[in-house]
Amino acid sequence: MFRGRKPYGLIGVAGVLALAACAPAGNAEPAAVSGSPRAAAKSPAPVTTPQGPPGVKPRAGEVRPIPRTGGLPPVISSIPTKRKVVFLTIDDGWEQDPGFVAQVRDQRIPITAFAMRDAVEAKGAPDESGGPARYVGAGKWGYFRQLRDAGVPVENHTLTHPNLRLLGYAGQRREICGASRLIGKETGTRPTLFRPPFGNYNTDTLRAAKSCGMSAVLLWTASVQPGGKIAYQVPDKKLRPGDILLLHFRPNLAGDFRILVNKIKRRGYELGDLAAYLAAAGVR
Ligand SMILES: [Zn+2]
Repeated sequence: MFRGRKPYGLIGVAGVLALAACAPAGNAEPAAVSGSPRAAAKSPAPVTTPQGPPGVKPRAGEVRPIPRTGGLPPVISSIPTKRKVVFLTIDDGWEQDPGFVAQVRDQRIPITAFAMRDAVEAKGAPDESGGPARYVGAGKWGYFRQLRDAGVPVENHTLTHPNLRLLGYAGQRREICGASRLIGKETGTRPTLFRPPFGNYNTDTLRAAKSCGMSAVLLWTASVQPGGKIAYQVPDKKLRPGDILLLHFRPNLAGDFRILVNKIKRRGYELGDLAAYLAAAGVR
């Protein structure tokens, strides 16, 4: 039941300007690129990754709807649910540790990746805040195809990681549509979620995101620091139902990730399938 409760984690934005120049990208291209499910079908006792994205799915009526304001994509920093479930998102793509892909695949950990071209392609100075980088550019887009094959949606985090508030509409659109086209080409599926660098955005961002086929702009409620430490944006330092956690592809991610996942589970939280929760909230 919705009962007109005020959705939280949403920032309303007024003003409608639908500019339809970039083809809407809800139209994911079929994943003809992926060969693993077909290969598995030939084996009498497949030992490959289970099908479908990992993570708990919402129960009927669990998620409150997230409204679109003014026809623009909603800005979401948490999922409106009372269930003890949180969502893991990982940004940029500098450090490409093969051990992390294995961890995500083998333990069926639900994550959503927000890929940024210059990080994935190792153009520029890598993020070494987790320690010295060892795997910068090790796999490039092939690394994200491996993540995709492990059930990870690869979403949009721009081409060059600019502060979008300093760009005009056309510049923002180049960053967002360009990244969507590239990710579509490299992974076979166009993104539908956009995460603005530094969480900085304005109305032009939402208009550009819409025109590039984005169904939502995803922010976060807490970020995860090296060592698996959670930096909350609220004073009481507790996880809350529906929190979206932000991590980065940094050195030592696999170790930090283990600490984090254990911490979340100790607190009685489950890890959710973000796409399924967004769909249940009416975001598509
Ligand atoms: Zn970033």
